[in-house]
Amino acid sequence: MIEFSLTKEQEEIKAKYRDFSDRWIVPNRLKYDQLAEFPWSVVKAAYDEGIMNGPMSTEFGGHSHSLLDGALASEELGAGCVGIGICIDANTLALTPLYIAANETLQKKWFGRINEEKGVAAYCLTEPNAGSDVQGIKTSAIKKGDKYIINGHKRFITNAEVSSFLTVFALTDPEKGSRSLTAFLVPSDTPGIEFKPRLNKMGQKASVQNEIIFTDVEVPAENMIGDEGYGFIIAMKTFDRTRTGVAALSVGNARAAFETAKEWSKNRKQFGKPIAANQAIGFMLADMATKIETARLITWYAAWAYDHDKSKLNKLSAMSKLYASDIGMEVTTDAVQAMGGDGYTWEFMVEKMMRDAKLCQIYEGTNQVQRLVISKAILKEQ
Ligand SMILES: Cc1cc2nc3c(=O)[nH]c(=O)nc-3n(C[C@H](O)[C@H](O)[C@H](O)COP(=O)(O)OP(=O)(O)OC[C@H]3O[C@@H](n4cnc5c(N)ncnc54)[C@H](O)[C@@H]3O)c2cc1C
Repeated sequence: MIEFSLTKEQEEIKAKYRDFSDRWIVPNRLKYDQLAEFPWSVVKAAYDEGIMNGPMSTEFGGHSHSLLDGALASEELGAGCVGIGICIDANTLALTPLYIAANETLQKKWFGRINEEKGVAAYCLTEPNAGSDVQGIKTSAIKKGDKYIINGHKRFITNAEVSSFLTVFALTDPEKGSRSLTAFLVPSDTPGIEFKPRLNKMGQKASVQNEIIFTDVEVPAENMIGDEGYGFIIAMKTFDRTRTGVAALSVGNARAAFETAKEWSKNRKQFGKPIAANQAIGFMLADMATKIETARLITWYAAWAYDHDKSKLNKLSAMSKLYASDIGMEVTTDAVQAMGGDGYTWEFMVEKMMRDAKLCQIYEGTNQVQRLVISKAILKEQ
């Protein structure tokens, strides 16, 4: 049986996130985009209103959201502003290793602290020579007594300078390479951690990134997340849970751009009639609406697959991220085009949506990497 309707609880989640987005994100998105500053006011409000950390269990201050619940939530955040939405979702990315792989003592301590501080964490995987190719990681964590000493260099790390702690992936035995990749929870104020100046970038400007240098950073052995050598598996299992979130943010962003362009083209008159009455614009809107519906379907299907039957998970979550972020770029670009000069100004925000869409094709694995994952999976299928 195929069932497309949402349950009452899912409708409530959607309504709750839409309401939050309308009251907190939409009114603040231009300000934070222009300032390129972390939106603390919105994140604190998100904690106060039960918006943060949805996929974590209630025991750890979350809401035990399924992946489908999370996709509904992220679409609404993305419809408000992907830049602000990713501040919330990147925190989930950083907390996921702690949630899925850490022991109870570490979970209780750090979920307790992050919720009490109403803070955020940062996920530290990428390095100068390890972007798409995670096997290139060089950061090391060498055991010394009951501590690990971390040395290395991470870059493009979202939430870094505003974080309470870092989830760091490092090699415990550089000679063994990625077979020794291990995850550690590192408090951000640990001596030896240097945050480089904030990255200047094209879009999603409310979300901040830094390079991080680790010089003889001491971490107690008890801060290891999961077992030694399981870092690669933990990193990949984390992405399995978060790629549908990026897909859903993209769907929300595309939806907002489409709705803006649709309303505008019904009202804007040229040659004595609304521009929407021209087939060129009407068909553009038709294509935009079709792409958004299909992107939402693959996103929901991938999220549902994670919640019910993990066998096709890898392929579907990669497909959802690939397809939804590609159509996010197309739809937002068309929205700017459909609106002419007005589309290019700050007033209607579609130029911002277009800038924001681009990054969804790059982070959490570029879309070329998603195609690698998909092709590997389909070629294995009988
Ligand atoms: C704003 C921003 C926020 C980010 N946040 C985080 C974060 O919080 N934590 C974190 O760890 N990382 C983060 N990243 C890093 C991000 O995940 C990487 O940028 C991404 O994985 C790509 O790596 P790269 O930039 O080194 O590109 P490269 O790997 O150098 O790739 C360059 C190009 O080559 C293509 N390519 C590479 N290998 C192949 C291949 N085998 N086949 C075909 N094409 C290939 C890529 O698709 C891309 O088009 C962030 C990046 C940005 C820009």
